[in-house]
Amino acid sequence: MSKQTGSKWIEQDSAHCLHPFTNFKALNNKGSRVITRAEGVYIYDEDDNKILDGMAGLWCVNMGYNCQPLIEAATNQLQELPYYNLFFQTTHPPAVELSTLLAEVAPEGMNHVFFTGSGSECNDTVVRMVRHYWASLGQPNKQTIISRHNAYHGSTMAGASLGGMAFMHAQGGLPLPNIVHIDQPYHFGEGQGRDANEFGLERAQQLEAKILELGEDNVAAFIAEPIQGAGGVIIPPDSYWPEIQRICDKYEVLLIVDEVICGFGRTGEWFASQTFNIKPDLMCMAKGITSGYLPLGGVMVRDHVAQVLTDADTEFAHGFTYSGHPAACAVAIANIKEMQKHNIVNRVREDIAPYFASRWSELLAHPMVAEARTKGLVGAIELVKNKATNERFDKELDVGTKCREHCFAAGIVLRAVGDTMICSPPLIITREEIDEFIDKAKIALDNTLADVSQ
Ligand SMILES: *Cc1c(COP(=O)(O)O)cnc(C)c1O
Repeated sequence: MSKQTGSKWIEQDSAHCLHPFTNFKALNNKGSRVITRAEGVYIYDEDDNKILDGMAGLWCVNMGYNCQPLIEAATNQLQELPYYNLFFQTTHPPAVELSTLLAEVAPEGMNHVFFTGSGSECNDTVVRMVRHYWASLGQPNKQTIISRHNAYHGSTMAGASLGGMAFMHAQGGLPLPNIVHIDQPYHFGEGQGRDANEFGLERAQQLEAKILELGEDNVAAFIAEPIQGAGGVIIPPDSYWPEIQRICDKYEVLLIVDEVICGFGRTGEWFASQTFNIKPDLMCMAKGITSGYLPLGGVMVRDHVAQVLTDADTEFAHGFTYSGHPAACAVAIANIKEMQKHNIVNRVREDIAPYFASRWSELLAHPMVAEARTKGLVGAIELVKNKATNERFDKELDVGTKCREHCFAAGIVLRAVGDTMICSPPLIITREEIDEFIDKAKIALDNTLADVSQ
């Protein structure tokens, strides 16, 4: 793509703004895409191109752009009490109301929440919280947290350490001590030719092997996303989660489920823990909790965890200035109420996700697409050079990135993880909008194929 020029935004952006997960030089040579407004499932760039946002921003704008009750909730709260904190034995109505509402929609037995400002902060919080939990029970050696290669748990030091992104660990000397990783249940990528459930079971049993290797008295917790998001929408085989649950129960290892993407209806239940029948001890939430309108995260904990932390009768020496920010909490309350009012979770499960699944699976007919998978409203397709053998394209061709550019040109947003194309559209997307999305995805795939065949 040629360099985008001619707007003051692009010039000043290059001059002053450093972007997340970005090669600064490459971006400065090319110029950013400037998004100026949005409505429903569509974003608009400064040339007024209308683009269907198949990623809901960054997996967060579940209720779509321009959801008036959310905007009003923020505005009213900013008038009433724009800021106060939960430190030093104070509280405020939005934090109280939201924690009560969360207890209502969370899985049975999860009735307590520690607020943060983001998903990363949730994951920093759980590291300290589970270690404090075990120390409070007189087991200070239960320190190590087991995670998975290619997991994503955020970008702070603990978040990136829990994450299993090798390219992130390579910068800044990560992971932190006492955080270790096992292999992921990525059947297409790492289990070719194997029975999916047998493969899933084997990957889950790596957890047991790791616990035995470290000694169960040294293992505090296992952390995982129900479906890996940033890793490439990796939906584990059915055998995976029951086995993980069995192992955590057997060895008294706390189960931390990172619901930052999957929470708030994405998989057709309030939380994917319900979809996969997982019983987490701690649960990280962010993104969809406010539909992204304001930054907010929360760690939800099961009653027995809260009880131990309470019985410890010492200060949990942890917290953020914006833990439970009133305006962010007000938006989250409005977001949950809006979801309840419009029955969004049922609508996803019963209606729109099945429709999306059937239309998404049509992409499998394309000569480059070797697998098309969905769960709820997340989806992935695997691009390959040869469908008979599932041989991948040469890495240097960067086919995924090319495809992403063709998607933008066709008027949709898809994200590339290597040569896996992924999507996570707003939960309010309609059948007509899904039709448009799939039709444009087909055009983008055709153009990508033409591009790489040259
Ligand atoms: C995005 C994400 C995070 C990090 O959240 P931030 O709000 O960006 O800090 C953590 N875990 C998962 C699963 C995520 O997708």
